[in-house]
Amino acid sequence: MTQKRRLGIMGGTFDPIHHGHLVAASEVAHVFALDEVVFVPTGVSAHKGHTNVTPAEDRYLMAVIATASNPRFSVSRIDIDRPGATYTVDTLRDMRALHGPDTDLFFITGADALEKMLTWHDSEELFGLAHFVGVTRPGHRLADPGLPTGRVSLIEVPALAISSTECRERVEAEEPIWYLVPDGIVQYINKRSLYRPDGA
Ligand code: ATP
Ligand code: MG
Repeated sequence: MTQKRRLGIMGGTFDPIHHGHLVAASEVAHVFALDEVVFVPTGVSAHKGHTNVTPAEDRYLMAVIATASNPRFSVSRIDIDRPGATYTVDTLRDMRALHGPDTDLFFITGADALEKMLTWHDSEELFGLAHFVGVTRPGHRLADPGLPTGRVSLIEVPALAISSTECRERVEAEEPIWYLVPDGIVQYINKRSLYRPDGA
């Protein structure tokens, strides 16, 4: 019997991608012996909308830049190329269809995002499409009441108190983001003048 491929999926707005995302993906890949982790930037987020979200193409390119050096990391356009708002259930359905029955899917999510998912109307289908791995995130308790048994694992990852919101606010305030995000991301943000109040 051949071993099934183990594929991690890390969805997010990635506006911008930062070392918290990368450490979470790397740690889950290690603990769950994943063959690959695919980062999937959202199109128009169903929960964040269009307003104040950086164009998908910039967020996609930043994800590519941040993951380029890791042979087990890749980036998918599946959500940004699908018309309409991004729903995680569509991401997982598409991934299932794309990879077939010989691949096990592991959806990686921070404690804050996992908590919200439990309240979604389609959460039952969601948890049937992949195994969910909830990771610790500073400021959010990794609580498990109501988690569907056997479908969700909770693991502790090295805590990095970094958020994209804070990165954007720091750039806007002309504060450094070196070492919060990969060097190439600092350079891309500067080159494209992202997160500046006047876009200049
Ligand atoms: P924002 O502040 O704009 O919401 P974010 O930092 O939360 O950005 P997202 O793109 O919203 O980043 O997150 C994508 C996924 O990564 C979510 O599941 C989120 O919980 C998880 N995540 C984000 N930052 C961390 C972190 N520092 N440690 C662990 N998980 C994280
Ligand atoms: Mg978030």
